[in-house]
Amino acid sequence: MIKHEDRSIKKKKRRKALQIILGLIMIWGMLNLCITLIFSGLIPHRYASAQEGREIMLSNTEYYDNMTQNDFDFRMRKSGATKEEFLEASRESVSDFNFIDKWYLNSRLARMALHFKLKGYDIPEVEKIVFIKADMELESGASGYTHGTQIYLSDDLVTIYALMNIIPGFSEYMDKLLYHELFHCLTRSNPQFRTDMYSLIHFTVTDKEYELPPCVLERYISNPDVEHHNSYATFLIDGEPIDCYTACITTKSYAEAQSGFMSNDATALVPVDGTDIYYTSEQASNFDEVFGTNTGYVTDPEECMADNFAYAMLYGMKGKDGKGYPNPEIIQGIIDYLKQ
Ligand SMILES: [Zn+2]
Repeated sequence: MIKHEDRSIKKKKRRKALQIILGLIMIWGMLNLCITLIFSGLIPHRYASAQEGREIMLSNTEYYDNMTQNDFDFRMRKSGATKEEFLEASRESVSDFNFIDKWYLNSRLARMALHFKLKGYDIPEVEKIVFIKADMELESGASGYTHGTQIYLSDDLVTIYALMNIIPGFSEYMDKLLYHELFHCLTRSNPQFRTDMYSLIHFTVTDKEYELPPCVLERYISNPDVEHHNSYATFLIDGEPIDCYTACITTKSYAEAQSGFMSNDATALVPVDGTDIYYTSEQASNFDEVFGTNTGYVTDPEECMADNFAYAMLYGMKGKDGKGYPNPEIIQGIIDYLKQ
């Protein structure tokens, strides 16, 4: 009799606990729904269908016209690849977002917009962002990239993150990616913002677009996130100060490397005076002082600052896990700028 009563009390307790858990999940779901509906539109964006995405992608003709043989070889993973082959493969790489993808991305964008509001950050205006879903095989397995205010996201990545969203903290990588790509969109929409951000890592933006010399062009890898070579910093080469801009190159040809360009890339420091020469990052004794070492992605000030922006937004001055930064002044500069 007593045992039976015990079992009945235990059963009731279990049922109550289950009801509380279900109630909390429902409240969490409703809260998530409200945040997404209210805030996601504050970062203006839309999603392109596969067909529209292909058209938008192929409309970036200036970018494709300036690509090098090295670009085509590494992206198509064969020597002697042609632009036509690359464009056809690019066209085929685009796919449709499904409902879950869109809802997931909207929920992440809403959190970003809410974060800006709660922190009092005045984010510069951005032209409407168009998200395009694509296979990243041609971009050496990158997670995403941009053209103008078009953000291309890895199809596999979006699907995995959208499905695993219920795991707390799982979306940190996606959030970093979205902040990084948003930074590129912000610099395109606001040239002054770009100038001010680059100055935090000692780069000066000029009116002059530098022309890559032959020795760089031979190994040059185009990066859709880097639209300009018009900013320089002073690097110490053998103790001598030389004003250089940066260019991403591969250390080998595709025939020698036989791999994606990301496992062979390097930062070339190219003198602004047009001399047909480049220096490696190791040759510049102040390379780390110029870029800082918060991120290792230092092929261009645009990429370095996109990562720093993402860290500033995700982790604030405390840094990831409260560990701070090797160069907190860069993060502080970003935060101060957005709070002006
Ligand atoms: Zn980037």
